[in-house]
Amino acid sequence: MPSALYQPLATLVGDEEDQDDQEQLHYYYQHPQLSAGEKLPPPTLGTRRSRSIAGNRRRVWLLLLVPCCIVFFYFMFSPQSLGLGNNNTNWDAVDDYLPHNGIDSTNTHALNESLMICSESHEDRRLFMQDKPRSAYAQLPVIYFVTPTYPRREQIPELTRLAHTLLHVPRLHWLVANDRDRCDKFLDNMLNKFGIPFTYLASPMPSKFRNTKPAPRGVANRRAALQWLHQRNLTAGVLYFGDDDNTYDLRLFSEIRQTQRVSMFPVGLIAEYAVSGPVVRNGKVVAFLDSWVAGRRWPVDMAGFAVNLAYMSQYPNVNMPFKPGYEEDLFLRSIGLRIDQIEPKGNNCTEILVWHTQTKNKKSPTVRIDSALLNDRFNLGALFHSLKVMGVASASDTEGPRAVISKNGKGKPLSYFLS
Ligand code: UDP
Ligand code: MN
Repeated sequence: MPSALYQPLATLVGDEEDQDDQEQLHYYYQHPQLSAGEKLPPPTLGTRRSRSIAGNRRRVWLLLLVPCCIVFFYFMFSPQSLGLGNNNTNWDAVDDYLPHNGIDSTNTHALNESLMICSESHEDRRLFMQDKPRSAYAQLPVIYFVTPTYPRREQIPELTRLAHTLLHVPRLHWLVANDRDRCDKFLDNMLNKFGIPFTYLASPMPSKFRNTKPAPRGVANRRAALQWLHQRNLTAGVLYFGDDDNTYDLRLFSEIRQTQRVSMFPVGLIAEYAVSGPVVRNGKVVAFLDSWVAGRRWPVDMAGFAVNLAYMSQYPNVNMPFKPGYEEDLFLRSIGLRIDQIEPKGNNCTEILVWHTQTKNKKSPTVRIDSALLNDRFNLGALFHSLKVMGVASASDTEGPRAVISKNGKGKPLSYFLS
């Protein structure tokens, strides 16, 4: 996601080190005459009167503080607010469920999506991939490649380009989730023709989010794919969220296929630094580089990680809330990830194996063409019919800019073609 577009919410209060720093800062703001490192002298107490005023004040503060603390701890650690309905509290995971940035506990509910499966094929009709027969790959774990997509004039070209990348990738199941409330015959035919095992889902964005800015793009789609995996009880293989407009290096697939829990790697062309990804020291992920932190514990792009399904299946509350900008963070929180568990890929995160390329999104035009040119004496009727089906452009007798049809560098009138 182009995370830099979103306004950061209040920063997450970090670890103890950060808190210490905050307290120190507060201390020096109150005592500006002190330079850093200098200690404040012990407070000298004045008259008995001022001492008793101070004592009264302390009692009032204590009286106010104690109930506040009780209420605070109740809400922070009650099973409901942690999203844990039972008593088998996994305390390792609790920290991952603490609300932050005003995000409420609805994040921790398990998914319960209704699924609309348009079509699917589990048959791999590809004979060769990367110069080897399909049988050479039979033992590899399957990659579940989840692609959110939506109807616009660039949809078919994007999916064509992506399919031609995926055609080279063995043992892959392509989950194409379309942001539309119905199935689309054209897309179904197209996906079938590639011969890649696939599932085509219709997963519209809930209407209440349609006009919000920013809208949660691709979230309903990914949630539907998660539901599909869950319903099939798939506990082997690797999950990857790959948008329809990114650019994928074929080496990415060999790398993520080895994921044991969660692997991570840099994504090129993200936001201000044109890159987002883990910082690695001695083969371990120690921090993250991303220009938009905004309190995210996992400030990574959707295409910057992969998850092993055996690992994910241990977390029944796996989720991806409709929270623009925070989808990756909240998804990774919902599967209890710890930084020391992350497997860096791409030669210890030194290589870019996936690019956040973006295609210009333009409105589909209506072109004015005389209907006499759209019958089957010419190609134009069939051509515009197929452009319309793909959502690219349409022809009209009465609307839109008039199409210029030329020969030898000169526009010709209709009569020229009809004579
Ligand atoms: N997407 C969608 N519905 C929308 C907008 C986007 O399903 O209304 C999909 C889109 O096809 C892509 C993903 O969500 O796979 C992310 O969207 P986009 O590429 O526009 O966002 P960006 O990569 O710029 O964050
Ligand atoms: Mn994109």
